[in-house]
Amino acid sequence: MNSFENAKHIVRKAAEIIKLEKWITDILLHPQKEISVSFPVKMDDGGIKIFQGYRVQHNNARGPYKGGIRYHWNVDLNEVRALAMWMSIKCAVADLPLGGGKGGVICDPKEHDNVKALSKNEIERMTRAFTRAIANDIGPEKDIPAPDVYTNSEIMSWVADEYAKYIRQPLEKVWGVVTGKPVEKGGSFGRENATARGGQFVLKEAIEKGYTVLKTLNGARVAIHGFGNAGSNFAKLIHKEGCKIVAISDSKGGIFNPNGFNPEDVLKHKEKTGSVSDYPKAEKITNHGLLEIECDILVPAALENVVTKENANEIKAKIILELANGPLTPEADDILFKKGIVVLPDILANAGGVTVSCYEWQQNLKNEKWSAEKIDKMLEKTMRTNTSLVLETAKKYNVNNRIGAYILAIQRIAEAVRKSH
Ligand code: NAD
Repeated sequence: MNSFENAKHIVRKAAEIIKLEKWITDILLHPQKEISVSFPVKMDDGGIKIFQGYRVQHNNARGPYKGGIRYHWNVDLNEVRALAMWMSIKCAVADLPLGGGKGGVICDPKEHDNVKALSKNEIERMTRAFTRAIANDIGPEKDIPAPDVYTNSEIMSWVADEYAKYIRQPLEKVWGVVTGKPVEKGGSFGRENATARGGQFVLKEAIEKGYTVLKTLNGARVAIHGFGNAGSNFAKLIHKEGCKIVAISDSKGGIFNPNGFNPEDVLKHKEKTGSVSDYPKAEKITNHGLLEIECDILVPAALENVVTKENANEIKAKIILELANGPLTPEADDILFKKGIVVLPDILANAGGVTVSCYEWQQNLKNEKWSAEKIDKMLEKTMRTNTSLVLETAKKYNVNNRIGAYILAIQRIAEAVRKSH
């Protein structure tokens, strides 16, 4: 099953449990609009290359479409469809006035399999060309992109700048077209580590409310799969809570040390060498091996479908906090549920990013700048409230937490859909 089939499978399952009207289920199973664009970009050697990009707008019953743009060589339409659907569900779980969308461009932002990475200038020209190609379909009241895998705040500032030029408006008037911007260019305090911070609140709420066998974070052993924005920021936050980061991996491989790593040092090493994989005083492990390591909390923070029916039985963690989108397949979910492993699902656990994105968008629309303290308090309240609601819903229907989260989200989206029909 591809990621989109996985996502639809859970929507159907949750809809069946709450006996949702068939026409609303059908609306949720079909993205409202799919944009596919081919666009030329001038390369550093003077040649022109054609790139393929997508923007899928899944549902806007609760507000404008919202979701990141991913740059990766494996991007395909089904992946973007799944990610867009997850965004509708995620925004509803977090109770934000937003719908769901997602974008992606097939490209090489990073060296891989002997393929050279695009230069920074090429990435900028590609970003600007993609923005022009989708400019009529995005906007502060329509569809608001954000960063995702291999895109960042600088790339978002190029999107805003190019969009402003395209619609001939001053940049300051259209900051709200995109979120995840640098703070000095219309961005919000707290966005950089919002996904990680949100995940930390979800984890704390689940532990404090007695939904896990762990009674405290202090001393808990944590394994982190993927050490980018989400994974590395989470490692830093959780290390301060007294957790032991025993394993870390990135696309080039992983490291293990039962005594724990200082994530700041590992990050410095990654910034210097391009990977965590040859960090000293550590046992080398594979990405795959990291997932099966002896630990209390496993944090997938890279790509989809890394825990499947093939390896779910080997997972030793007591809790899985999904900072990545879609890291577990539905079969893996069933196996882990039976094993009593608590999964804190992506649409809840990584909703901190889109929540602070929503705050950024609201600040842009009102031309305000909120303090870091205010944002952190708002984020904590939202994440904790919705974590409790998800866990209660799962308990009430005796389903896993992912289906619990879908039920909560689908009920909220359905209410908005009914009102608009
Ligand atoms: P990123 O580009 O900053 O980092 C991705 C990391 O994953 C890198 O360290 C990369 O080396 C690693 N990686 C790639 N392939 C891997 C593999 N096969 N095994 C192990 N590691 C691998 O991306 P990010 O923003 O941190 O996003 C990571 C995940 O979190 C994605 O699923 C994304 O959709 C999700 N997410 C991110 C945010 C956010 O605000 N950044 C919000 C919600 C969800």
